[in-house]
Amino acid sequence: MSESLKLGETTITVTRKDIKNVHLTVHPPDGRVTLSAPLETRLDVARAYAISKLTWIRQRQENFVKQARETPRRFIERESHHLWGKRYLMTVTQKNSKPSVKLDHKRINLTVRPGSSQAKREQVIHEWHKSLLHKTIPPLIAQWEKKLKVKVSAYFLQRMKTKWGSCNHQSGNIRLNTELVKKPKELLEYVIIHEMIHLIEPTHSKRFIDLLQKNHPQWQEARAELNELPLSADNWGSLSK
Ligand SMILES: [Zn+2]
Repeated sequence: MSESLKLGETTITVTRKDIKNVHLTVHPPDGRVTLSAPLETRLDVARAYAISKLTWIRQRQENFVKQARETPRRFIERESHHLWGKRYLMTVTQKNSKPSVKLDHKRINLTVRPGSSQAKREQVIHEWHKSLLHKTIPPLIAQWEKKLKVKVSAYFLQRMKTKWGSCNHQSGNIRLNTELVKKPKELLEYVIIHEMIHLIEPTHSKRFIDLLQKNHPQWQEARAELNELPLSADNWGSLSK
């Protein structure tokens, strides 16, 4: 049996259990709060305890909101940026030379002209992302063309709001979201396989699932991970094309 407490906008579910101490938990992803208390705990005591922890509760809730929504990057010193599933810190050097990006173990070193705007920095990084993807994708396509016995006419990189990839069955083209550069490479490979199987089977029919299962048995994990990772605040529909 559980009761609930209301603290401002937060509802706390209180459950009494055969335990010694009070446990307060803020759950991801929505910041739901539960409190487990010893059997004899009175509700007003539980309430007083929750109030004493209110700052902590709010902080945890805010963190979940932040995690859920990828904050817009500003391309400034010490900002964190993801590449192939790993987090890097950005360093920015202002120099009168052609803009460039260099990667080392921990840092993405961006060189731009003095006074360059945020939009310009973003563009330099975007071009760099595209060049990394253009190095990584063709060998993966070639490998899966052999395995799946299918031919990709062309692939395109595109910033997409709601999809990781798409496929044009008629033309034999596939489109891949440039945001994939931020995810582990296995996830990029999964999206490539998924879209290439659409060249054989355009819908998410049983045939499609069977082909996916046979060629990429971990597809469900990959799909779950892609749905979980923030896609600039958007989701990839569960099995959208
Ligand atoms: Zn699909």
